[in-house]
Amino acid sequence: MQNEIEKYFDRLWPINRSLTGNGNRQTLSILGEIADLEIFETPSGTPCFDWNVPPEWNVREAWVKDASGNKIIDFGLNNLHLLGYSEPFNGKLHFNELKAHLYSKPEMPHVIPYLTSYYKRRWGFCISHNQLLNLNPNAEYEVYIDSNLNEAGSMTWGEAVLPGKSEKEIFFSTYICHPSMASDVLSGMLCTAFLYRELKKNPDHHYTYRFLFIPETIGSINYLSQRHDALKKNMLAGYVLTCLGDDGAYTYKRSRMGNSIADRMAERLLKNENVDCIIENFWPGGSDERQFCSPGFNLPVGSLMRTRYEVFPQYHTSDDNKNYISFEAMEAGVNMYMKLVNLFETNPVFISTNPHCEPQLGKRGLYPTLGAQQKYPEYIDAMMWLLNLADGTHDLVSISNESGMRIELLQEIAIELENQKLIVRS
Ligand code: ZN
Repeated sequence: MQNEIEKYFDRLWPINRSLTGNGNRQTLSILGEIADLEIFETPSGTPCFDWNVPPEWNVREAWVKDASGNKIIDFGLNNLHLLGYSEPFNGKLHFNELKAHLYSKPEMPHVIPYLTSYYKRRWGFCISHNQLLNLNPNAEYEVYIDSNLNEAGSMTWGEAVLPGKSEKEIFFSTYICHPSMASDVLSGMLCTAFLYRELKKNPDHHYTYRFLFIPETIGSINYLSQRHDALKKNMLAGYVLTCLGDDGAYTYKRSRMGNSIADRMAERLLKNENVDCIIENFWPGGSDERQFCSPGFNLPVGSLMRTRYEVFPQYHTSDDNKNYISFEAMEAGVNMYMKLVNLFETNPVFISTNPHCEPQLGKRGLYPTLGAQQKYPEYIDAMMWLLNLADGTHDLVSISNESGMRIELLQEIAIELENQKLIVRS
């Protein structure tokens, strides 16, 4: 798998991606070779909650030339050079005027920073601080940005679904909106696509699996505005896939609930695998989990990554490149998510068919009918726990962990309660 991931990585790497534009279409068309993606176009201006889909941005050329006519900054050589969503510009500027449009990262003077200005119109170039210091402060420069912000354009995104026996869904979301960035975008979309391909090999799965490829923030806001009812109804657990390219410790960022089935399963997986890991409570920054976990939805969406965005120093710079990541790590990421899927598939989650007060167990022969002399107190206790936690968010291991009841006993009781139609698998 590693070699294949690398081939796709090399094809996807140079494409200029953003919230919208032809680079995103091209990216989704390449990912569509791995996963059976349905592609959607949401028109610019479409309202979604407090937001609107932005105009479509495309760039043909962008550069800065010195007084001798040499291109000293060229979007054609590295798409990070152009500030994302730069408006068109053409003109000659003295360095003093130009410098207000130049962005660098003085604390990492050799890198080109990755910056965008999606919702405020401006233009700019991102360059290394070393290059900035070498520009002639007395010279004039020629700037050319042939970009287009089309109000009649659209935002492109993709979705793939592998239907299972159950309508309940395990949901995977990744973002496609960064240009040449290795761990913080390409690892996420490649692992998600390859996870789809691995899962498709076994059509005999219980749950339905949904894979979403969207631009970050506005993509998830738009998706939620269109599909929130179905998501709320069907989602058992969800994860945002990103930063799976390096070989650092795994990081699990919990859902807002903090104890959702998504959290329990991911944390149990990391424990089972006995790997170095960092567990973080939910915080309302980061990636699309902050939309899925906004209080109006509060969906069970966490994020299982390697070294998290904002933590590694190469983050959002030209150093988040092929040297920083490995394809072995990405394959390991796909395998880790496959193991997570396996945990869901092999640990049924039950829902009580009789959740309003306790069902009357005595009339079903499940409860001693003679007073307080319980013959099998442990059996009854375990049954009460199982019935109470059959809420669609607990599998038997979780019930065992929360109740202290033996798993073997809970398994025995689950069969009995299923036969009596008091619980069903979600
Ligand atoms: Zn990012």
